[in-house]
Amino acid sequence: MTPVPPAPAPPAPAPRSAYDLSREELAGLLADEPPYRVRQVWDGLHRRARRPGEMTDLPRSLRERLEGALPVALGEISRRSADGGGTVKWLFELADGRRVETVLMAYPDRVTVCVSTQAGCAMGCAFCATGQSGFERHLSAGEIVEQVVAGIRAARPRRLSNVVFMGMGEPLANYGRTWAAIERIHGELGISARHLTLSTVGLVPGIRRLARATLPVNLALSLHAANDELRDRLVPMNRRYPLAALAEACAEYVAASKRRLSIEWALIDGTNDRPSDMAELAEFARPLGAHVNLIPLNPTPGYAPGGSPPHRVADARDTLLRLGVNATVRATRGVEIGAACGQLAARGTGPVVGLPRVR
Ligand code: SAH
Ligand code: SF4
Repeated sequence: MTPVPPAPAPPAPAPRSAYDLSREELAGLLADEPPYRVRQVWDGLHRRARRPGEMTDLPRSLRERLEGALPVALGEISRRSADGGGTVKWLFELADGRRVETVLMAYPDRVTVCVSTQAGCAMGCAFCATGQSGFERHLSAGEIVEQVVAGIRAARPRRLSNVVFMGMGEPLANYGRTWAAIERIHGELGISARHLTLSTVGLVPGIRRLARATLPVNLALSLHAANDELRDRLVPMNRRYPLAALAEACAEYVAASKRRLSIEWALIDGTNDRPSDMAELAEFARPLGAHVNLIPLNPTPGYAPGGSPPHRVADARDTLLRLGVNATVRATRGVEIGAACGQLAARGTGPVVGLPRVR
């Protein structure tokens, strides 16, 4: 019998970002340099969040070579700020022309960056600007990490403390690359797993996988409706993974990770903000010991219903508290620059107001 030749290995995809390279790959790139250069460049990229051109501890010729070999994946198209400089939104263009947005939010006690995991999103939630624009492609791990690095650089002199995977895209639909980014952010950028929060529309297999993961990252579930009939309409993925299956996967996550689950609920006027909606939400949240974040729906071009007015938001919170569920109203950031939850759509909306002043 003629031996079957082994199939040729598929070509490795070209790195999209310097942060797509492993330490071994970087060592390969620096093979003709003294060995200590690997640590120097690796530390420069991660611990110091520098670009090769800024690594003044390297000889100029090496710096120039690395500028070509370690590409910056995120080309800054615009940077807008709001909330007195406390919120910054970037529109980045990737090497293939796709665009994503990243948001930095400075609070008195923390600085948080909100990163995208996909260009576009395939989940099709009606009320979300990213969903309205459809799916383009997954981001690489390096493209995700680079957004965090942009946050670290812009937060200075403060320290970036938190990362939320709540920008464009569904992180659990891009699980492998998102997880690789989490490991790099935790291991090399030094942000603890407790300060990383992944938000999902409710992909049950992904939640199960996360329950068994090694780093105890936080999970936020974008619920928005706690009866299948309404959730099927608001969040089409509910037809694939209905509430009973979702509750089971969440219980598994809470039991395995020992971390608190949070539930995101965008209050839509007259749609999911009634006392009966809160009663259903309480039934879902209580057994999971989940904390509920209420947020009035932010306006997007493709969805007519509005956010609940302030008195209904307050009523919803009070009803939940009465029903024994921890609930807070999340202050909205960056609405005027289209940087608030659900508004990211790679269009770069809002006025350019110069360089940000992050407090
Ligand atoms: N795909 C993930 C993470 C990105 S969306 C997810 O759905 O969880 C980030 C958050 O913004 C989610 O909680 C989502 O439900 C919420 N969101 C989407 N559109 C919104 C809108 N118009 N107003 C308020 N929140 C919105
Ligand atoms: Fe995708 Fe999340 Fe927007 Fe739904 S809410 S379309 S899952 S980004």
